[in-house]
Amino acid sequence: MELHPDISHLVLTEEQIQSRVRELGAEISADYGDEPVLLVAVLRGAAIFVADLARTITSPVELDFMAVSSYGSSTKSSGVVRILKDLDETIEGRSVLVCEDILDTGLTLKYLLKNLASRKPASLDVVALLSKEGKQRVPIDCKYVGFDVPDEFVVGYGLDYAEHYRNLRYVGILKPEIYSM
Ligand code: IMP
Repeated sequence: MELHPDISHLVLTEEQIQSRVRELGAEISADYGDEPVLLVAVLRGAAIFVADLARTITSPVELDFMAVSSYGSSTKSSGVVRILKDLDETIEGRSVLVCEDILDTGLTLKYLLKNLASRKPASLDVVALLSKEGKQRVPIDCKYVGFDVPDEFVVGYGLDYAEHYRNLRYVGILKPEIYSM
């Protein structure tokens, strides 16, 4: 397979991602059974993941989206979060599964979970496609994790650098010169 010219190496292939997403979907379907689950995807990074994940879940699925911005540089999280787009519907009494692209410091998710919990959902859990090893500054109870990845900046499968590379079907590491441009 030909890599994008800005990518130095692969972290996860398309096949690895698709197979793990199917496993996560099976696990989630087994846990929720016939109970409706509201997938709350955190834009924009989780858009691609949630689109694939939703189609592997056999429980009744509903979808809603939130957009948050974390203040800081493009590659570092600051923990100060602003809601840019809120959910369209109330989550009171519903089973909510927050879908995240990557758990890095955990600061964004910590803020988001606190905010969502105050709206009194019946349950509130998290599925993250990726989790950076040894990086979490705040403990996050993430029920489903796709892959642990090394503490490096990754792009692809929804993850961006300056809004690029979200459409790559795999996850990879950028060539160092891309950051210095
Ligand atoms: P956290 O608050 O440090 O956990 O970071 C959360 C958000 O930062 C993620 O949802 C991503 O959107 C972004 N992010 C963190 N690490 C990466 C990365 O390696 N590549 C692309 N985006 C990242």
